Amino acid sequence: MIILKNRDEIEKMRVAGKVVAQVLDILRQKVKPGITTANLNAIAEHECKRRNAIPVFKNYPNPKGGRPFPGAICASINEEVIHGIPINRELKEGDIISIDFGVLVNGFAGDSATTIPVGEISDEAAKLLRVTEESLMCGINAAIIGNRLGAISNAVQSQVEKHGFSVVRDFVGHGIGRDMHEDPPVPNYGRINSGPKLQNGMTIAIEPMVNIGSYKVLTKEDEWTIVTRDGSLSAHFEHTIAITEEGPDILTLL
Ligand code: MG
Ligand code: MG
Repeated sequence: MIILKNRDEIEKMRVAGKVVAQVLDILRQKVKPGITTANLNAIAEHECKRRNAIPVFKNYPNPKGGRPFPGAICASINEEVIHGIPINRELKEGDIISIDFGVLVNGFAGDSATTIPVGEISDEAAKLLRVTEESLMCGINAAIIGNRLGAISNAVQSQVEKHGFSVVRDFVGHGIGRDMHEDPPVPNYGRINSGPKLQNGMTIAIEPMVNIGSYKVLTKEDEWTIVTRDGSLSAHFEHTIAITEEGPDILTLL
């Protein structure tokens, strides 16, 4: 069931979204060769405490029944797509790191992700980051009352495939509100005229995961980390948005 939000609830989500944006901004400035993903996670946990924000990914139940997620952030390097566990692994010059982060503040959730270059990266990696972020913006711009959800999915997919990359099928965006994951699922692929009609007060997280090679993925032995099957690089950008009569409203901004 899709839960519509009123203006007051959307403003509460904006408070949570702003915390997510602030912490991601701090992490972006810390990303450099030599820092570990465990270091980045510790910074995120500290910043949550200072803001009375609950990091919702921590102890998130494993859908396949394995151990719960141990970190506050998902830190996914290079061919890792999503759900990378923060560990004692140093970032290297030329890596790309996707950081996905979500919080609850006063009972409302915010969720955002970004992929950050570590020092100088290859032209191809830079193109991947640019196209993935552009595809997110294309999806957001299609989040107009009267469109169907498939308009968002199709806008993301078209932008990605135009540049020769592929969108991951096995993981999708989602409704969000009092819970991090609500209805509806928000795929990054599909037909324009498919899915539910977009309505005033819908709040969703749009999150393209884009691979340079095939869209196929698999789960690593750690039971969490999703990697590209062909080992190609992957990027991930995400915003939480509200669909309003004034147009799409991005809630995870500074
Ligand atoms: Mg996220
Ligand atoms: Mg999400």
